[in-house]
Amino acid sequence: MRIIDIHAHPIFFGSGKSRPEVDQLVRYSRSLGIEKMVCLGDVLVHGPSPTAKQLRSINDQTRQLLTWHPDFFIGFCYLNPTLGEKPIRSELDRCVEAGFRGIKLEIANNARDPVMRPLMKAAEQSSLPVLQHTWDTLNKPMRKTHSDPKDTCLLAKRFPSVTVIMAHLYGFGIRGILEAQDLPNLYIDTSSCLPFAGLLEYAVEKLGPERILYGSDIPIRELGQCIGRVTGADIDEDAKKRILYSNSNTLLNLD
Ligand SMILES: [Zn+2]
Repeated sequence: MRIIDIHAHPIFFGSGKSRPEVDQLVRYSRSLGIEKMVCLGDVLVHGPSPTAKQLRSINDQTRQLLTWHPDFFIGFCYLNPTLGEKPIRSELDRCVEAGFRGIKLEIANNARDPVMRPLMKAAEQSSLPVLQHTWDTLNKPMRKTHSDPKDTCLLAKRFPSVTVIMAHLYGFGIRGILEAQDLPNLYIDTSSCLPFAGLLEYAVEKLGPERILYGSDIPIRELGQCIGRVTGADIDEDAKKRILYSNSNTLLNLD
């Protein structure tokens, strides 16, 4: 099976950044069939709301990975929407120039906040997908900054010309799948948490396989187990191929 991993943190809380560690990860990933890996950055190393300078250093690390393994790694530019339009634009421009192919958002703010507007406009103008951290946070105080599927889906509804990737199928579950219906610009990734029997099958039934992207969330999760959720699912071979490879290949214009 050919695989593209749309959700990975090769460097996490400072570890994994040496050349031997990175080479080892690439070797191991390739042994499992992973041909490309999207590097989202060391997103929480400076806390939930990094400064412009901290974002630059995180994105520079991603750029280092792209330099070492340009055929394997794909960079997403990590941004903080609360910093405002100018810092967003300048960091995004810098990342686009370095060949990054998407935007990563974590937990600086909720996806429904008005601060998202300049960022989404910038994403629209640069035609880049936005991968938004999402979790089941309904009725929890953490929802202030951790987007619930309701929030990420509302974001996709508000900006129909921007591709939004709602992260963590196993973190938002059945409710998130139902929220994601009828939003053609919204994709979900299969990353995070422990496997849950029947969940991917349910997502394919409700959304079709076209808007589902394989992701792992390494190093928090183990690659073999994340791949097994897809290969072991009770869905047809064509759906598996789409989820593991061709949907991301098309979305990221890799051909
Ligand atoms: Zn992640």
